[in-house]
Amino acid sequence: MREVVILSGKGGVGKSSIVASLGVIYAREHKVVLADTDVDAPNLDLVLGAKLRNSEEITASSKAFIDYDKCIGCMMCRDVCKFSSIIGTEQPIIIPYSCEGCGACTVICPEDAIEIKEVVNGQLNIFDAENMLLVAGELHIGESSSGRLVDIVKKRARQEAENSQVEMIFIDGPPGIGCPVIASAKGADYVVLVTEPTPAALNDLKRVVEVVKHFRIPLGIALNRSDIHPESNRAVKQFAQDNGFSILSEIPYDKSMPMAVANAQPVISAYPSAPSSLALGKLAAALSEKINELP
Ligand code: SF4
Ligand code: SF4
Repeated sequence: MREVVILSGKGGVGKSSIVASLGVIYAREHKVVLADTDVDAPNLDLVLGAKLRNSEEITASSKAFIDYDKCIGCMMCRDVCKFSSIIGTEQPIIIPYSCEGCGACTVICPEDAIEIKEVVNGQLNIFDAENMLLVAGELHIGESSSGRLVDIVKKRARQEAENSQVEMIFIDGPPGIGCPVIASAKGADYVVLVTEPTPAALNDLKRVVEVVKHFRIPLGIALNRSDIHPESNRAVKQFAQDNGFSILSEIPYDKSMPMAVANAQPVISAYPSAPSSLALGKLAAALSEKINELP
């Protein structure tokens, strides 16, 4: 079983659309499980037009709770909290959205009046998408611990894959370079970095490359909307060449892609002979070659 993570650094470059079509292409010959680890804003189910099979609440966060019967109002807990999650002057009030559950307040409290408890902070959704299974995490609004939720999503995707002798897991990772990106990339066999030829996307690509290099995971680049700005196209290719990265495919701007998204279908299914679909076929072939070369 292989695990391929698709990241982008910059959001809005078409990553989920590319994951959806890659999944469909691979699922023609292999068993595929998809995982959406963009837990702050999951959307792979929408791009695929997937059907929800079941949903489970996830407890992946801890928060402080005060027993006011024991509290004497010394406010030492407020003063020790590095996250400014305790307010008040005579009686402490915990702001749950910013509490990280670090436990410092429980240590300092002279009355043993604070307890750290696990709380529900998100959900795990299982979808059926074409002939694939999609495992998606969704953090509740204002909640933290996205990295832990990403771990839970990946663990479940691997379990589902093992149960069904699946050969490939595609993980649609989050944008940025933060904790959920690190959690998504960790343990992957290969990373596809989706970018577009704009200075902002190239800047974010360089940042996410540093994250992937830290884990020593081989990577390749998919250049989406490759023809929208020739100068930036050359800049991305130069960056790839300077660092020894392959451009796996150049996917031209093609209105079929947004039209497919509007119809909740992967472009490869909705418009199989569109220019973007043909380029996605090349991406899948190039990725297969890279996967076959892995030890
Ligand atoms: S440290 Fe304990 S006793 Fe003091 S205000 Fe906080 S909860 Fe109350
Ligand atoms: S658990 Fe940590 S973050 Fe939460 S209120 Fe206590 S000290 Fe602040």
